[in-house]
Amino acid sequence: MKTIIVKFGGSSLADPGKIRRAAAIILTQRRRGLHPVVVVSAPANATDELLALAARAGGKKRSARETDALLAAGEQFSAALMAMALEGAGAAAVSLTGAQAGITTNSRYGDAGIKRVNPARLKKELKSGKIPVVAGFQGINAAGDITTLGRGGSDLTAVALARAINASVCDFLTDVKGIYTAHPALVPDARKIHKISYAEVITLAHSGTEVRQLRAVRYAAAHNITLQLRSSFHSEAGTLITAAGGTAGVTCLSIQTKGQTARVALIGRELGASEKQKALTAARNAGIPARAEKAGRGCITLAVPAAQGETLLKTLHAVFI
Ligand code: ASP
Ligand code: MG
Repeated sequence: MKTIIVKFGGSSLADPGKIRRAAAIILTQRRRGLHPVVVVSAPANATDELLALAARAGGKKRSARETDALLAAGEQFSAALMAMALEGAGAAAVSLTGAQAGITTNSRYGDAGIKRVNPARLKKELKSGKIPVVAGFQGINAAGDITTLGRGGSDLTAVALARAINASVCDFLTDVKGIYTAHPALVPDARKIHKISYAEVITLAHSGTEVRQLRAVRYAAAHNITLQLRSSFHSEAGTLITAAGGTAGVTCLSIQTKGQTARVALIGRELGASEKQKALTAARNAGIPARAEKAGRGCITLAVPAAQGETLLKTLHAVFI
């Protein structure tokens, strides 16, 4: 049985129409002979709204246990609705909480770590022909209480389940088409990256662009789980995250502005003195006062006054991509 993990982000689950659309994507995969295990986030903004409610009801001193009990409900909401949408489309489905899906964590409420995944229930449901829909972002601790896995934690649920059921791929469907060579809103010429390595995605997060929860990417890297990022609103291929990634050289650029300084990072493989020199020369030719901050084989960072950050980003993108 070829199982896959299909994880939907909150923007893909924002209303019943979008949930039905996501269900249709799952059913297409079924028709291709795959056996999906679905992982869902809370509907768009739901987690923030629940946090705001918690603050209003319980104030700053509210218990972490109750906060997690509340937050986990967002994903449970999505899971039950998704299972209904699948059933409405004629498929057999079953929603599961993190605990029902066998995810055991430590007791660090709000940022729990996964200790074990027992996939017995998932396997049983798959075997009986059902599509399991797992509420992301949550598990259960040794005391039997609900915990959550940190913001963006449904990503961690997805990769942990991928490992536990030996899924051939872990698909992330969101409202973006993949990872781009730079933020398309800042660099109109940015294009979608076909393949990128775990290391590059981790460097990207350290440089200010977290495309998936960092813990989840580290987990995927440690267990060599191939991640596929794509849009739930377009059928085109997205970005694959693997150990090897794509070709050597600069893969993408990231920008982070703090106070008076913007830092533009060139991220790639086997970068060295020649790329650093090329970047500094390009900045100088454009009249941008940049200095090289740090350089490693995977990252070269140039710092400039904040007002010139975006110009430097565009300049370097044109030179390297
Ligand atoms: N709903 C949670 C959050 O917004 C977890 C997730 O979406 O992965 O952080
Ligand atoms: Mg969310």
